[in-house]
Amino acid sequence: MSIPPAEDLAEAPAEAPAEALDIPLAELTDADRELIAFARDVVDANTDGEEGIHTMGAAVRAVDGTLHAGINVYHFTGGPCAELVALGAARAAGARELDAIVAVGNMGRGVVGPCGRDRQVLLDYHPGIRVILPTTRGVRSVRIEGLMPYAFAWSPGVGATAYPSDPVDPVESC
Ligand SMILES: [Zn+2]
Repeated sequence: MSIPPAEDLAEAPAEAPAEALDIPLAELTDADRELIAFARDVVDANTDGEEGIHTMGAAVRAVDGTLHAGINVYHFTGGPCAELVALGAARAAGARELDAIVAVGNMGRGVVGPCGRDRQVLLDYHPGIRVILPTTRGVRSVRIEGLMPYAFAWSPGVGATAYPSDPVDPVESC
């Protein structure tokens, strides 16, 4: 496929909302509120302040109901977000199937949605997990798939695949 000349790009095509972007949001459950409070308590107890290294707390709930916390480890080389630390902590405690995740900022910043890297990791390693995040309708939970329409997907040993696992003919789809 060749790249169209710049003059052909000047007039943008009409856009229409995609069905896949109609993201189903769920009201928070009592268990979700407990998870938020857990993440908040972890960051409140362990943050080192506004300009600190540890500014975000996260918590995950496993399908067995256990809660596991993480806190970010900021570093310019790419230190992990709180969400990724929480995933590791859950795994270290033997929790393999996870139900929900949330991150809360320090200094009373409340619930903060996951960054793009976290979303990709969640999609690839914990498909179906519910992510609690601020939305236009307030704090709600949404399945990770709802946050990653038309996503790239990756798995160890397989690499990148079309997502969802419904292969698209690369020629027909151009
Ligand atoms: Zn992140």
